[in-house]
Amino acid sequence: MCKGKSMEKNLIEKIIYDLYESFPGNRVEEELALSPEAAGIRFFEKPLVGIGAADDPLFEKLRSEEVVVSWYMMPEEWLCGAKSVISMFFPFTEEVRKANGQCREMPAHAWLHGRIEGQNYLEELLEEFCRKLNELGLRTCLPTTDNRLRAVMDGVRSGSNWSERHTAYICGLGTFGMSNGLITEKGIAGRFISVITDGDIPADTRPYTEIFEYCNGCGACIRRCPAGSITREGGNGKKKCSEHNDKVYDKYYPRYGCGLCQTRVPCESRIPPKINR
Ligand code: SF4
Ligand code: SF4
Repeated sequence: MCKGKSMEKNLIEKIIYDLYESFPGNRVEEELALSPEAAGIRFFEKPLVGIGAADDPLFEKLRSEEVVVSWYMMPEEWLCGAKSVISMFFPFTEEVRKANGQCREMPAHAWLHGRIEGQNYLEELLEEFCRKLNELGLRTCLPTTDNRLRAVMDGVRSGSNWSERHTAYICGLGTFGMSNGLITEKGIAGRFISVITDGDIPADTRPYTEIFEYCNGCGACIRRCPAGSITREGGNGKKKCSEHNDKVYDKYYPRYGCGLCQTRVPCESRIPPKINR
């Protein structure tokens, strides 16, 4: 029988904050650095943590209404007896953000490292986090490293069976911006990652009701995008973004990423102020 135990959010936060302070690898290694300026740069600030209920109806909505895709997997399908979803946002440091904010076409070396080596660091950090929860008697699943994670194309739509940004929305961490990123109280520039557990952790109350509540519609991300991918009307932007990312990949293989729309914009590191129209 699948049965979980109760746990308070502050214990979850303590575990991840302690790991964040002590776990090695939160920097660009000198031997891997694409340029001397990128060497030694720290990737991430301390994370924000949001808790969602595994049976939150919004997860089902992501699948049934094809907000993401019809092959989206529910928390219970990832982990038998799932009770809670722990979502985290790791903001990029000011050094990474500033470096990218100076770019106009190709991303900064520091950003590329954050996207690839930074992501590797996060996955190792979260695997350790899961081990700590396992020692406390909780079972866990880390979808981002799970071999069932799939990015599928069905001829009409493409998408993954787990979305970190949608999960973060459900867990109360933020709302979407025009650029398709998720704006949190520490901004939009950073990485999301989540863990599903059978631990029964009280879910956070979402401090918003609308999908785009934190975006002020300023349009700065439209002007920052070198691919013309972002429009007020939405539409076929994903394709242009992906074509631009292919160019980055060709130039910086095996690294990729862009994120110009997430830097030098009012939502870079905070919820942007409202604009009076
Ligand atoms: S730059 Fe402005 S319009 Fe674009 S996501 Fe941020 S707040 Fe919204
Ligand atoms: S939408 Fe894509 S191509 Fe445009 S700035 Fe953002 S990441 Fe770059």
